[in-house]
Amino acid sequence: MKIIMLGAPGAGKGTQAKMLADRYKIPHISTGDIFRANIKNGTELGKKAKQYMDQGLLVPDELTCDLVMDRIQQEDCANGFILDGFPRTIPQAEALRAALAGIDQKMDYAIDVDVPDENIVNRMSGRRVCTDCGATYHIVTIPTKAEGICDRCGSAVVLRDDDKAETVRKRLEVYHEQTRPLIDYYKEQDIVRTVDGTKPMEEVFADIVAILGQ
Ligand code: AMP
Repeated sequence: MKIIMLGAPGAGKGTQAKMLADRYKIPHISTGDIFRANIKNGTELGKKAKQYMDQGLLVPDELTCDLVMDRIQQEDCANGFILDGFPRTIPQAEALRAALAGIDQKMDYAIDVDVPDENIVNRMSGRRVCTDCGATYHIVTIPTKAEGICDRCGSAVVLRDDDKAETVRKRLEVYHEQTRPLIDYYKEQDIVRTVDGTKPMEEVFADIVAILGQ
C-alpha cells in the first residue's frame, strides 16, 4: 500500500504516519526527518536545507525529489510506504508520478488530515520533538512522562526552531500557496480521502484505518 499524508503543518500527519507504518509494516518516509537528520550530521544537504527551513520556506525541489525517488526504490519499500511531507508542490507530485509510472505503479491513497488554520498555531507552539530519536510530543495532548525528557530514549525534547509562532505563520502561508493545490491534483486521480484532524489522535487513526482497510 502506497500512501501520501496530506495536511497543513501541525495537522498531526506525522503522528498518524508513524502509527500507520507500525500497523501496516511499511516504512514511514518523512522528508522533514531526513532533512533534520542531515542538519544534525552536518552534511552539505543539511546545510543547504537549513537555510530554507529556518525561514519556514520549502527546500527547493531539486534537493528534495531525488532523495525521495532513491528512498522509495529501496528494498524495504517493496510492499509500500507512507510519504509524510512529500510531495509538497505540484512539480514534486509530477516527479513522483513519473518515477512510479516508470515501474508501472501509482499511489493508492492521499489522506488529507484536515485541521483549520486557527487550530494550527496553538498546536505547534505546544509541540516538542526529541533531539535524538525524533519522537514527537505535545505539552497538553501527548506529554512526556518527565518534563523535557523523551520517554523513548531519555534525550532532551525541545520546540523545533521552525515551530516558533512567526515561522509557523510563514509555513501556513507556504502550505496554502504551494501544497494545498495537491488536494485537487489527487482528487483528479480519485485517491483523496479526508479525515477530521481535530478529533483525538486515536479517533483520527481509526478513521484512517477504516479507509485503508484491515
Ligand atoms: P516537516 O517536518 O514535514 O514539517 O518539514 C519541515 C520543513 O522541512 C519544511 O517546513 C520545509 O522547509 C522542509 N521540507 C520538508 N519536506 C519538504 C518537501 N517535500 N519539499 C520542500 N521542503 C520540505
